[in-house]
Amino acid sequence: MRLTVLGASGTYPRPGGATNGFLVREGATTLVMELGNGCLSNLLREVDLEAVDAIVVTHMHVDHFGDLYPLFYALRFHPHEPWGRRLLLPRGGLELMGRILGEDSRQYLPRVFAPEVLKENGEYRVGEMSLRAYPTRHPVEGYALRLEGEGWSMAYSSDSSPCPGVEEAARGVDLFICEATLPASYEKEASHGHMTSRQAGETAARAGAKRLMLTHIWPTFDVVDIAREAGEAYGGEVVPAREGMTVSLGGGRHVQA
Ligand SMILES: [Zn+2]
Ligand SMILES: [Zn+2]
Repeated sequence: MRLTVLGASGTYPRPGGATNGFLVREGATTLVMELGNGCLSNLLREVDLEAVDAIVVTHMHVDHFGDLYPLFYALRFHPHEPWGRRLLLPRGGLELMGRILGEDSRQYLPRVFAPEVLKENGEYRVGEMSLRAYPTRHPVEGYALRLEGEGWSMAYSSDSSPCPGVEEAARGVDLFICEATLPASYEKEASHGHMTSRQAGETAARAGAKRLMLTHIWPTFDVVDIAREAGEAYGGEVVPAREGMTVSLGGGRHVQA
């Protein structure tokens, strides 16, 4: 499996960056996990839209789904009309998206996308991968994800304060992508639905995750400091996600800058 980071910033992008997004490829299967603002441009560098089997959005916050709008138009006006793309998202997500579209565009939403409801303990098959959703602790309904394929496992925290769902999703995985929105000294500020660097490290350690990648770090904070703080709590190497980074799992792991 090959994971490519499309966007790594929390809430709003760093200069030249993008908010949350990951591309997961295994054999002929292509899954897009989150599509925050700026991610579509990075996605198009990697794959043709016709190759995308499914898109999964963990919760309806703009930094996680904003680029579904330009994706919708790119598919709608695509010369081959590759419509009916699977879109897994929380209940009511497509309706929420439709609210800011005009009537003409809105009617195409459920044709361009084939929506599926993401729900607690839901299990989904996407080509050669399986995906399972776990509840998060965040101001809106959201899900941490666990992905598995032949010889590899991976988890993604989505946005969440430390909670049993995120920890369960990450149990023993080869790679845990965990949000670390804030530095360790901001625990009070993080308590409304995010994690500090230390909490991300502690969560990964409790879950027994074999490797930790941090994401959703607010652009105002120093990525190196946050990774160091998380590493102290985790007790192992921590890699901050950055746009364009690729990680391979199963059949020889390595990271490319
Ligand atoms: Zn977010
Ligand atoms: Zn959020």
